[in-house]
Amino acid sequence: QDCRARTRPLEPRSSTYQRASRRRIRTMSAATFVVAGASTACASNRHPVKGNAKARSAALGARRAVASRGDVRALSSERHASFRASTARVGARRASPVTPRALDAAQPFDFEAKQRQKVEKKRTLKIGIVGFGNFGQFLAKRFIKNGHDVIATSRSDYGSIAAELNVGYYRDPDDFCEMHPDVVIFCTSILSTEATINAFPMQRLRRNTLVADVLSVKQFPKQLFLQRMPENFDILCLHPMFGPDSGKGSWKDLPLVYDKVRVGEEKSRRERVERLLSVFEDEGCRMVEMSCEEHDIQAASSQFITHTVGRMLGTMELGETTINTKGYESLLSLVNNTYNDSFDLYYGLFMYNKNATAELSRLELAFSQVKAQLFDRLHTLIRDDIFDEASVPTGLRSGNGKAKNGGGGDTPAEERTFKDRLIDQVNSG
Ligand code: NAP
Repeated sequence: QDCRARTRPLEPRSSTYQRASRRRIRTMSAATFVVAGASTACASNRHPVKGNAKARSAALGARRAVASRGDVRALSSERHASFRASTARVGARRASPVTPRALDAAQPFDFEAKQRQKVEKKRTLKIGIVGFGNFGQFLAKRFIKNGHDVIATSRSDYGSIAAELNVGYYRDPDDFCEMHPDVVIFCTSILSTEATINAFPMQRLRRNTLVADVLSVKQFPKQLFLQRMPENFDILCLHPMFGPDSGKGSWKDLPLVYDKVRVGEEKSRRERVERLLSVFEDEGCRMVEMSCEEHDIQAASSQFITHTVGRMLGTMELGETTINTKGYESLLSLVNNTYNDSFDLYYGLFMYNKNATAELSRLELAFSQVKAQLFDRLHTLIRDDIFDEASVPTGLRSGNGKAKNGGGGDTPAEERTFKDRLIDQVNSG
């Protein structure tokens, strides 16, 4: 403080001030001050240009360190290095006035905060979400929690919800694109994605935007992107294998499938992809790199079947009982995790995954086989017999209610046990 107070009057660089400053400086403590015109002039007298370039490159190196590491040491070394650079410049211009500077002079109060912000900015993505429905909002919350800026656009008006979530909302896709997001993620329903992409004003986006999708089928959006997106766009296909219900709390160990379909060679482009993926990684997701084609094969036999069974049980309106078993609890939770999703989503899983039809047929076949096994054994005819045995004293009753004799050889039907008659029935097919 003292040093600055003393040096401030020297600011107007008249020759009188220069003389005065030289006198003062000589008397000041050498430990606190570096006299720019003195210390650097020595060096620059010898190699003025070399000294200057050396200092400047040191400053540049330090600034790079700040950008890449962002640590406090790098910040302070940058300050020192840029100080050296500026003093070297002064030294090189030997005729320039002497400007005393304190090595430990206080920087503006927000210097470090600003530097830190610059570093953070490098890590922050501006993520644009197209389709701000159930899943779009779910993702937006996590992106914001992870320090990214989020903007969104959708067919419906989600202005007030977006404001609550701190998301910039643009009803008009043109306005949305003109905000130049680094990443555009399509969170539209599978069924509407093609129409949305066709109508999307891609030309207003930045030249090398990264486009991604989170559709629950993968081959279809991959093809769409490759056909419709400009060649200089990067393409990343994602499928978080969880939703607003199953991923309500932690994302730990939940699978995130991704396919880097097309990513430019430049470091910045590769880093942008990594920064987006790191949101999921940092949340604890299990990162699974897999081709879109392989995803669809595996998803048909896992996800589509899960949704189908969940829908069937949901349609049955299963409810809580007082004697819920663990197995039954899992069925209820299955319904809970699937039945709330839109029917569009479920239909999309079927329609836009060419492996789904075969899986549905397999499921149907399996169900018929299980049912046949039951019905082969416990035929309606015999059921009638079980429950109406007392009222029919002789023989089994047929489906039409007529009594008939069992096939038990010589033993009269009324003497044969129920078990014997059941065996006869099963044996006779
Ligand atoms: P969804 O019913 O599949 O999609 C709803 C979204 O699609 C809304 O943003 C809606 O916009 C938009 N949309 C629907 N029809 C449209 C049309 N004709 N034109 C323009 N936009 C239309 O439900 P979701 O759960 O939010 O899923 C979104 C995407 O995420 C889907 O592709 C789904 O496969 C994927 N995904 C979902 C889950 C999940 O668990 N829910 C998990 C992983 C991936 P408006 O609301 O503005 O009408």
